[in-house]
Amino acid sequence: MVGGGIIGASCAAHLAERGADVTVMDAGKPRFGTSLANAGHIVVSHSVPMAAPGMVGQGFRSLLSRDGAFAVSARPGRGTLGWLLGFARKCSQANVAALQPGMDQILHRSAQLLREDPEVAVTPTGLWQVFTSSTDRATAEAEHLRHYGVQVRDVPGDELRAEPGLTDHVCAAIELTEDFGVDPAALWLRMRRRSETAGALWQEDIRGGSARYRCRRSGARCRGVVAGYRAFPWRGSTHSCGEGLFGDHLTCGTHAQAPDAVNGSANSS
Ligand SMILES: Cc1cc2nc3c(=O)[nH]c(=O)nc-3n(C[C@H](O)[C@H](O)[C@H](O)COP(=O)(O)OP(=O)(O)OC[C@H]3O[C@@H](n4cnc5c(N)ncnc54)[C@H](O)[C@@H]3O)c2cc1C
Repeated sequence: MVGGGIIGASCAAHLAERGADVTVMDAGKPRFGTSLANAGHIVVSHSVPMAAPGMVGQGFRSLLSRDGAFAVSARPGRGTLGWLLGFARKCSQANVAALQPGMDQILHRSAQLLREDPEVAVTPTGLWQVFTSSTDRATAEAEHLRHYGVQVRDVPGDELRAEPGLTDHVCAAIELTEDFGVDPAALWLRMRRRSETAGALWQEDIRGGSARYRCRRSGARCRGVVAGYRAFPWRGSTHSCGEGLFGDHLTCGTHAQAPDAVNGSANSS
């Protein structure tokens, strides 16, 4: 497992518990990564892919707004334009219809696994999505999400005004009722402990934190991975090094593999 954030720790725990021989290698100290410093929301509602109809227009409006959620650097990196065009092409109803059911299944299964773990403390509040522009946007968003089976509650005006954490700019809110919260640091530690109990070996700070991981190529194909001082075959290695992945243009979570003896067949995720 290359990278020991929450993705690496969770994969390590579940694979080791199924009998895989797991080594987690982290270039630094995983406890300083984003996995331990996020908001801790388990967002079952995030099943609708970002590449959906209307996103190009929304992204463009966001570029023109000072507090927009999306921005492009004045000096975009290599491949940014190609990525943006590819994203725009994918913003179709067909893309959403193809991906949403699988996303929904993964998110509900993940939430169920977390709820079933007696050592994971869960804060059972839903997540509020708030709107400052118009109540129509809130209505449209709620309709969009309900269309895909996401459970949404319209937050009544008096409840909204009674919420001390919100400024007067907020004019509407919807609650994503299936979402809940965890303590991200406690969750990461729990997954790490579970993996270690099941026999996973953790190697941190490989090469004093300066390790790059790279592919061993044969022509255009990646045959293996070098992380720190060790080489791994491509099959059987899982790449969970967050941002570290992008330098090598790999896809997150490729080739997580449980042993055939346990799973019956090769199982890539
Ligand atoms: C402010 C903020 C709030 C967020 N809130 C939420 C939220 O509420 N809910 C939610 O679901 N998500 C949230 N996220 C996103 C979430 O935190 C990340 O998606 C998640 O932590 C990514 O986990 P990861 O294991 O893939 O990556 P990371 O946590 O980044 O872990 C990657 C690990 O790989 C190691 N690594 C990197 N390069 C190499 C290399 N070459 N060799 C070996 N190891 C390497 C790093 O040291 C690191 O430990 C938030 C993110 C931010 C920034």
